[in-house]
Amino acid sequence: MPRKPLKPCRYPGCNKLTEGTYCEVHAKEVAKDYNKYTRHGDHNKKYGRGWRRIRNAYATAHPLCERCLKEGKLTPMEEVHHILPVNRGGSNDWSNLMSLCHSCHEKIHKALGDR
Ligand SMILES: [Zn+2]
Ligand SMILES: [Zn+2]
Ligand SMILES: [Zn+2]
Repeated sequence: MPRKPLKPCRYPGCNKLTEGTYCEVHAKEVAKDYNKYTRHGDHNKKYGRGWRRIRNAYATAHPLCERCLKEGKLTPMEEVHHILPVNRGGSNDWSNLMSLCHSCHEKIHKALGDR
């Protein structure tokens, strides 16, 4: 099997030759940073693991905007809202979720003082 040509490590200040993008030491370091900044900085951190699955199940069970429904309007839901926001201790429990259309969702967040 032909070996890949060696290239210098892409880590700033490191010129060690490697087959990959980074040398062994820096590959580990970059992976650590990746976990810290990329993997945990996304939706998973905000709403917890499995949120997408919970959201989809809730949306399937509540296909109409619950706020419009109270006013007798039948509007397809577009977004799942947390009644108690996750960053204030709200959970992904169905009892804490609400199906909303986009305009109701915006109204609720404006009323809550969120941007
Ligand atoms: Zn390196
Ligand atoms: Zn609505
Ligand atoms: Zn919301």
